[in-house]
Amino acid sequence: MSGMLEAYAEVAGEEVIDHLRQLSEPLAGMTMVHVNSTRVGGGVAEILDKLVPLSNELGIDTRWEVINGNMEFYQCTKSMHNALQGNPLRIPDHLYQAYEETNVANAERLRGVLEEADVVFIHDPQPAPLLGLCPNRKGKWVWRCHIDVSHPDRIVWKYLRQHLSAYDASVFSLPAFAQPLPNLEYIIPPSIDPLSEKNVDIDADELQEVAERFNLDTSRPIVAQISRYDRFKDPVGVIRSYRLAKKFMPQLQLVLAGGGASDDPEGELVLEEVHSAAEEDDDIHVLLLPADAHRTINALQRIADIVIQKSIREGFGLTVTEGMWKGKPVIGGDTGGIRLQVVDHHTGFLVNTPEGAALRMRYLFRQPAKMHEMSSKAREFVRDNFLLTRQLREYLTLSVGLLH
Ligand code: UDP
Repeated sequence: MSGMLEAYAEVAGEEVIDHLRQLSEPLAGMTMVHVNSTRVGGGVAEILDKLVPLSNELGIDTRWEVINGNMEFYQCTKSMHNALQGNPLRIPDHLYQAYEETNVANAERLRGVLEEADVVFIHDPQPAPLLGLCPNRKGKWVWRCHIDVSHPDRIVWKYLRQHLSAYDASVFSLPAFAQPLPNLEYIIPPSIDPLSEKNVDIDADELQEVAERFNLDTSRPIVAQISRYDRFKDPVGVIRSYRLAKKFMPQLQLVLAGGGASDDPEGELVLEEVHSAAEEDDDIHVLLLPADAHRTINALQRIADIVIQKSIREGFGLTVTEGMWKGKPVIGGDTGGIRLQVVDHHTGFLVNTPEGAALRMRYLFRQPAKMHEMSSKAREFVRDNFLLTRQLREYLTLSVGLLH
């Protein structure tokens, strides 16, 4: 077995890789192209970075193309992104024009590859017009939407829709994120890469070092929420639940870790609220992390006994997946994609209030056997459902379905 597949077999299981091999048989020798708008940064690029070589190792001739544009193009797609996620915005005509011109220029460069490909995955709105610019396409084209377009600005959606209607299929991350389109619609949830810095195994010495760096006592119970400082993540509610639980468990420590607050005025405000809610309690650790602190986040999730994600509104909730992969029961807000991951009483607990979260914390610390059982269920649930290999499997299944 070749390099990357073997590495993934070790964490995801041999049977997962065998399944991928079976599914890729009917696709052997075919060409597949993924197109997005950046090679680095962001979840989509991170996943493609692994998915593309894996799919090549499976014998599918897979390429990853990136469209590039000028500043106006990115201004347009940024506004589009915000408008599609529900912030009404008027995009000036000259920006739409830059969007279309950029796609025309990229189509000139990529037409040969795209028209010849058997399957093309176009990720997000940036390269969406490419299909209309490849009149002699031979293969099946899929629009893969990674964002929540359920409540879009109608004008922006209407504009984008005209570029999407000729696609053979569209893929959304959750049913709640979708919009009706006149083609086959699929749901493929996000996934995490078990071999990335954010998720790879870390040895005990390194964990101890990180704990010491942040003054955490690993001989005492620790709960952690890793999240942007955002009201929808309810960090102040987490502090309230910690305080309620602490009355019964004086040894309890809380970690709240997040980044990016300094370049986001709203985030700065939330961080202030968090600091004032934490007051003088030395057992509450409010950490501000740099954007690239992936390994630190990984370690903190491992050091914690329980991961909390007490959101009151959430997209998918990748921090929940990350925590569960590290074998932590997750106490999560009963909302969005958290519901898909936290199977109440099995992989964690769904809660609606600080009182509920406190109750679940106390319950888990009192019942080590239950904690242990939920830990392994949480990890297995992610192994079965939310690893990168599962996402690849679904892309292959979809491709086979469209081609045969
Ligand atoms: N994250 C990070 N630094 C932080 C806080 C979060 O890198 O300071 C990561 C976190 O590990 C996860 C992602 O950012 O991978 C957040 O995704 P999620 O779906 O949980 O929430 P979002 O921030 O997209 O609402």
